[in-house]
Amino acid sequence: MATTEPCIFCRIVAGDAPCDRVYEDELTLAFMDLFPVGEGHLLVIPKQHHQDIFEADEASLLAVMAISRRIAHALKTALEPDGIGVHQLNGAAAGQTVFHYHMHLIPRNQGDPIALHGRKRGEPAEMEAIAARIRAVLDREG
Ligand SMILES: [Zn+2]
Repeated sequence: MATTEPCIFCRIVAGDAPCDRVYEDELTLAFMDLFPVGEGHLLVIPKQHHQDIFEADEASLLAVMAISRRIAHALKTALEPDGIGVHQLNGAAAGQTVFHYHMHLIPRNQGDPIALHGRKRGEPAEMEAIAARIRAVLDREG
């Protein structure tokens, strides 16, 4: 059935759905993944709706990548993980579950299983606290 409902990420951008916001500018928004696979798992999206890499314009993709880099640095400082996964999926066959282009940033420690989608919702207070720690680093380091 065709629907004109905005997607969940567009609702978050519009402020119609809640999120733990980490960063925002004219083109991009970063917020904590609701179903984290680990501490600090967040998403960077273009504010404009693009389904995937095939639909997105180059400016949106470049903006998401530039902010992903900045936030990866902040995650490294805030959480000191052993590594950070930066992942992006296109199409259901590739594992995409929300059809609004997004980049996953996932801090990982040695031995953590490689997964992109968590099975249970993150603890709200915990996610808000981590978002605040990342925002503090971004504010400090720009
Ligand atoms: Zn959307």
